[in-house]
Amino acid sequence: MTKLLEGKNIVVMGVANERSIAWGITKSLHNAGANLIFTNRQERSYQKLVKLLDKHEIQAKLIVSCDVADDESIQQAFNEIGEKVGVIHGVVHSVAFANRDELQGEYANTSRDGFLLAQEISAYSLVAVTKAAKELMTEGGGIVTQTYLGAERVIPGYNVMGVAKASLEASVRYLAEDMGKYGIRVNAVSAGPIRTLSAKGVSNFNEKANVIVEKAPLRRNVDQDEVGDATLFLVSEMARGITGEVLHVDSGFHIIG
Ligand code: NDP
Repeated sequence: MTKLLEGKNIVVMGVANERSIAWGITKSLHNAGANLIFTNRQERSYQKLVKLLDKHEIQAKLIVSCDVADDESIQQAFNEIGEKVGVIHGVVHSVAFANRDELQGEYANTSRDGFLLAQEISAYSLVAVTKAAKELMTEGGGIVTQTYLGAERVIPGYNVMGVAKASLEASVRYLAEDMGKYGIRVNAVSAGPIRTLSAKGVSNFNEKANVIVEKAPLRRNVDQDEVGDATLFLVSEMARGITGEVLHVDSGFHIIG
């Protein structure tokens, strides 16, 4: 039986280490037979990724550097992917950033620069990446980003990132409308709290995780592998009728009042 993503070229953005959500996604995509192309920003992330791929015996088709704060860097990365790989069938956008000191206290204290930075890296980057990726997605496919409940509700301490995620989710809908005519679907996974490098910057992480165990229908937290499988679904043809959607992978917490 052929695997779900056999022969498909998928770009994964945002593996920083073994705990990254993008690493869970990498394993799911690999198990489904995808050819994987990675982008990193920091050299440190590149080194970690190379080690992880080696340890798990996963062969990357290509690894390119990409800083989503820089249009030229995005263009260069996708040009290189186009030259070396050709057509791509999917992109996983698992990238976000906000200043740590703005992920605590009152949202009202957010600085202008901090607000713009969070929007730029965590929301606008999906727009810029979609525009660049579209040129290579000539056979259609799926783009999937990662969001969080703080986009929909006030989650104490999530602050400026919650507003950036709201912008990201609205972008998913507008991009879905634009990309639909090219056979490209754009969706988001809204994961429950998972202990990663980025999550360390968010205050009250333990509280957020404990409330899931207490109140979510499944009475437990989710992990990177569960987000990985849901992302795989949205990237793949299994989700061919789905676009502009936010799929919650959060033990059902978002349905609880
Ligand atoms: P990680 O810290 O593991 O991943 C964040 C990634 O963002 C890193 O790989 C980092 O790259 C990348 N990044 C930051 N700035 C840039 C930039 N300018 N250009 C390119 N890449 C950049 O954390 P997570 O796995 O937790 O985060 C992945 C996504 O999941 C984020 O969108 C996050 O908001 C979302 N999410 C996380 C949840 C959680 O509880 N952990 C819950 C719901 C959603 P580098 O290391 O090279 O700087």
